[in-house]
Amino acid sequence: MLPGSVEWPAEFADRYRREGYWLGTGLGELLRPWARTDPSRTAVVSGARRHSYAELDAWADRLAAGLSALGLGPGDRVVLQLPNSPEFVAVCVALFRIGVVPVLALPAHRRNEITYLCAHTEAKAYVAVDTYHRFDYRSLAREVRAAVPTLKHVVVAGEAEEFIALADLATAQRPAREERASASSAQVPAAVTAPDPGEVAFFLLSGGTTGLPKLIPRTHDDYAYQLRETASAMGFDERGVYLACLPIAHNAALGCPGVLGALWAGGRVVLAGSPSPDEVFPLIAREGVTLTTLMPSFLKLWSEMAPVLEADLSGLVVEVGGARLSPQDAALVGPALGCTLTRWFGMAEGVLSFTRLDDSEDVRVTTEGHPLSPADEFRVVDEDDRDVAPGQEGQLLVRGPCTLRGYYRAPEYNARTFTEDGFLRTGDLVRRTPEGRLVVTGRMRDVVNRAGEKVPAEEVEGFLAAHPRVRDAAVVGLPDPVLGERTCAVVVPEGQPPTLAEVREFLIGQGLAEYKLPDRVETSSVLPRTTLGKLDKRALRAALAQPG
Ligand code: AMP
Repeated sequence: MLPGSVEWPAEFADRYRREGYWLGTGLGELLRPWARTDPSRTAVVSGARRHSYAELDAWADRLAAGLSALGLGPGDRVVLQLPNSPEFVAVCVALFRIGVVPVLALPAHRRNEITYLCAHTEAKAYVAVDTYHRFDYRSLAREVRAAVPTLKHVVVAGEAEEFIALADLATAQRPAREERASASSAQVPAAVTAPDPGEVAFFLLSGGTTGLPKLIPRTHDDYAYQLRETASAMGFDERGVYLACLPIAHNAALGCPGVLGALWAGGRVVLAGSPSPDEVFPLIAREGVTLTTLMPSFLKLWSEMAPVLEADLSGLVVEVGGARLSPQDAALVGPALGCTLTRWFGMAEGVLSFTRLDDSEDVRVTTEGHPLSPADEFRVVDEDDRDVAPGQEGQLLVRGPCTLRGYYRAPEYNARTFTEDGFLRTGDLVRRTPEGRLVVTGRMRDVVNRAGEKVPAEEVEGFLAAHPRVRDAAVVGLPDPVLGERTCAVVVPEGQPPTLAEVREFLIGQGLAEYKLPDRVETSSVLPRTTLGKLDKRALRAALAQPG
């Protein structure tokens, strides 16, 4: 496995293969079977663009050839920062085919995150879009390239300026169509053999950690299993239409079954820029969408707007997860939207538990269902890693065929985050019902879950402390009716306290992603600390909850 990643022990890998979870197929095989058997079948719809399986498959091959010609080869890392677009899919599949490992950054990431990702992975290339939401990624690329010597290439989708245009990359090394047609195995550059399915296919970013995001290696085998199993559990086959309205660099919309699972199944993917009802309701009607993924924070808006926009969502299954959803709000989904709800607890780390379509209404409203795989091992433990009594709350520990055994290049963090026998400490508090279904009850980690985006408090505190008029700072999540949680920074000022606008502007200047910026700033002469000197966030939250 890629150096810096942690393998499953042989006895587990053997078992997962023997029992048919890992089938030895590479993610580079995505699109291929459908491109052969039904070439004109629509694979991806994005605005006015429609790409058939054959087109997308051939495009991925041309890109694979172009990327290889840049000198990228098996095991090399490439940071990929593209919005929901056909380019995202084509580049990903191209990289899977040549064994190059994409690191999936979010479009919201800025200099701080992208520089770190490129440096930490020693990425040879950075692939971005020209501009998106009024942000110019080429300026970002210039800063990152100046800071990261290993970064050899910048590839830009759209107007590339001094960088390599993605469009040129896809044509320059274009293998002759005749060659491709005559040689069945000449779909990717001749010198490239299919990557080992046990290898790392790509990196997802962890939302659940302190400081900068940790990298989660997902292998071809483990992710292909996740795609197949989630598609099958959701009854998604070649007749299915999946709407991606959350960022597809997130596991939720990428592979549960998401975009990649839908393409694996031969279904159609409809890409949207956001879950905004005025954008997606017409798409759902026009394309006959059967499945989508949503964060709980959007449910209220959807419920309010569905009658206004006269949306018919009766044929839709909505996977809701990523943040807490109360049973009361879950119970309203059916009556208010007329669609079918499934509740999901998921982590990019590969942990998945969800309600199935044939579960009773009560189960679908009050629990996060049962694990993805019969081979998943879920334990609920106390602070000493002892199993709690059935039905009691404790931390969820997980081991299984999709759950990583270690973050990339993070040995010390891994030593703390995994038990000796390889269980991931999720940092989430749960209990299990007598039938073994999961109910998520809370979180131990110092992360604000803002509309499903995870804001690592410690990272933001570090940046706040660098403000010239801030002596000390703490970041906490406060309940919010729309976002679930909003981010509040409490600062101990040095002289004139900085305003919210000043704090946000300062953090943007530091290159921090916008979703990590505080929604509220409070000042205090001192921050509460525990007897050990650690910030006492519980006390802080309680103080902030006091009126006035
Ligand atoms: P990410 O890896 O960004 O998807 O974040 C994973 C984290 O999101 C989990 O560790 C939980 O803290 C949170 N999360 C995911 N699903 C749920 C859920 N259904 N209820 C509460 N929290 C959730």
